[in-house]
Amino acid sequence: MIPPIQRRIAKEVRVGPLILGGTHPIRVQSMTTTDTRDIEATVRQIKRLEQAGCEIVRVAVLNMDAANQLAEIKKRINIPLVADIHFDHRLALKAIEQGVDKLRLNPGNITDRAKIEQVVKAAKDKGIPIRVGVNSGSLPKDLLVKYEGATPEAMVEAALREIEILEDNNFSDIVVSLKSTDVRVMIESYRLIAKQIKYPLHLGVTEAGLGDTGVVRSALGIGTLLLEGIGDTLRCSLTGDPVREVKVAYDILAALHIRWRGIQYTSCPTCGRIGIDLEKIVAEVQKRLENVDKPIKISLIGCVVNGPGEALHSNIGLVGHEKSGTIYIDGKPYKRVPEDQLVDELVRVVKEYPLLPK
Ligand code: SF4
Repeated sequence: MIPPIQRRIAKEVRVGPLILGGTHPIRVQSMTTTDTRDIEATVRQIKRLEQAGCEIVRVAVLNMDAANQLAEIKKRINIPLVADIHFDHRLALKAIEQGVDKLRLNPGNITDRAKIEQVVKAAKDKGIPIRVGVNSGSLPKDLLVKYEGATPEAMVEAALREIEILEDNNFSDIVVSLKSTDVRVMIESYRLIAKQIKYPLHLGVTEAGLGDTGVVRSALGIGTLLLEGIGDTLRCSLTGDPVREVKVAYDILAALHIRWRGIQYTSCPTCGRIGIDLEKIVAEVQKRLENVDKPIKISLIGCVVNGPGEALHSNIGLVGHEKSGTIYIDGKPYKRVPEDQLVDELVRVVKEYPLLPK
């Protein structure tokens, strides 16, 4: 029996209709890659993110033109909107006025206490939370000197300083992130701060990279912390289409048995025993079922060595033979199908499941 994850119970912080922290679900976030001034493109991308299961979306607020589009963007989407603010506190004030659901402030580039206090007051008046978003690439200079680099201690101190300003202004709707490009620094930073504050933690490995590199780094950093019960929301920062970030985030959560979305697949690596083109079958089945949001498990296995055993733990299974395969439903053989019909038949079976003769 695998022991359950002992989750760190954070203060509950509301973001639009969602609550972060406590025992609430660990929420999946992403960030648009469009120019926020382009409302059409930004809304179109957010809709795609929503469809993929993104629950909170952040947009870059580069200048006043971008800030002035936020109300219109918010009106046209269905998930909480977060304004990402750097350098200029007036952009934060404008974003709050436009009705965003949350702000992300970077302690490394808005350092004037009076300006931060203006933002805090405006956020408090509107009842919106602030994420103190520390990033290893933009730490305050004095901390880089004091700690001789972007160490976990420097990351934590940057966050605690900003939190102190917020708390001094009686503001506690705070979420914190300590994102580093270095997976081990990231993990250690969150571990350290998790013991010192009560606020929800937003997990992420910043600028994790392209393709497999970004996925591996995100899975290691975020996954390690989630297993330790740390983390209330997460973003996988991957280079490219942000929809992939959402899919990877759910894969991490599902691999740790925390949350599921859509179909969970297992497939074998294939070997010299294989008698069908399993790679092609897996790719086609996954593509054709891309938009099917059914919480089921499918195992697509090349031969009888592991196929029947995996089918026992799956709703639907495939066991390959020479130029054919047997489809299993709930662990029992359902029908044997020639290779060229396997994809069509698997797709039909998944779509009709569980209303099928067993
Ligand atoms: S399940 Fe069969 S085909 Fe797949 S890797 Fe194992 S032995 Fe090879």
